[in-house]
Amino acid sequence: MTLILKIDSEKPDGDKILKAAEFIRKGEVVAFPTETVYGLGADAMNQEAIKKIFIAKRRPLDNPLIIHISRVEQMYRLVEEVPSVAKKLMEAFWPGPLTIILKKSSEVPPEATAGLNTVAIRMPDHKVALQLIEFSSVPIAAPSANLSGKPSPTKAEHAIEDFYSKIACIIDSGRCRIGLESTVMLLTEDKPMILRPGAVTIEEIEKVIGNVEFNSNISKTSAVDKPVSPGMKYRHYAPEAKLWLASEDRLEEAVREALKVKKKVGVITRGEKNLQVAEVFNAGPDMEEYASNIFAALRYLDGRGIEIIIAEGVEETGIGVAIMNRLKKAATRIV
Ligand code: AMP
Ligand code: MG
Repeated sequence: MTLILKIDSEKPDGDKILKAAEFIRKGEVVAFPTETVYGLGADAMNQEAIKKIFIAKRRPLDNPLIIHISRVEQMYRLVEEVPSVAKKLMEAFWPGPLTIILKKSSEVPPEATAGLNTVAIRMPDHKVALQLIEFSSVPIAAPSANLSGKPSPTKAEHAIEDFYSKIACIIDSGRCRIGLESTVMLLTEDKPMILRPGAVTIEEIEKVIGNVEFNSNISKTSAVDKPVSPGMKYRHYAPEAKLWLASEDRLEEAVREALKVKKKVGVITRGEKNLQVAEVFNAGPDMEEYASNIFAALRYLDGRGIEIIIAEGVEETGIGVAIMNRLKKAATRIV
């Protein structure tokens, strides 16, 4: 049995959040909304609870989790020290979609960090998530609430699809505002490094702390033997259908080719487009809108039995860097 709690994201019902928090305190797993995507959460200080996340998600044990906090003071129990660069970033972007990685304290169980001596932490910008952490009175470790490798969940339905009857509770607060996972930054090396691009953009970060390292190739799946971030070596965000990534000017060419191979072709477009295919999913002309719709579009087209999905690429600036990072990792072919 999985308890589904509908909770308003702007005016959360405290009694319902308390119920979900009781599950966390008892070492159970709860799917909950954040501004990025839904998380699959458990008490970060409880090894047995954390193991349940890995089992439910079928997540490789060497891929560490992000620990979610609701107050800055909670940091001090989780890390050895908070360097000034971290303080600047926390001040500028928390609560919000930025995860920072620091040296972990001995209190953090190795299960949460997959045995690494570092820990990833963020403070989500979502009333339900923040209250859930408060009421649980522990930090909550949570990866995205999807089966490992699948597109991330941006609506409660997605978490229900993957975890109904497998976890104690799923909170339904509607769709996630941003729809892409947080920006992940490593702060333990000489120079701050972006490991995963997200809604907090490189430009925004550099305004606060100056130059940072980011190599978009760092996240390539196969070529990396020893990835800086363990999550990078796995294929990710992938729909059941084959996914082709095509720039706008090659979209029609991609459609023609796809139709030679399969009948059921679906296209995710940026704005209205007239294409003779089984499904066209207009994810919006606006880049933020496109970002918030992309994972839902992949799941929707899978649900319609589409065999080849063609996604229209975007310019790699601002949040476009994060969109293209996800699409490249999910794509079976780049046209
Ligand atoms: P998810 O929450 O499923 O979107 O994944 C969290 C991401 O953060 C994965 O790519 C992890 O590999 C990465 N991550 C979490 N903790 C660490 C860490 N201590 N060092 C490097 N990467 C991390
Ligand atoms: Mg994930």
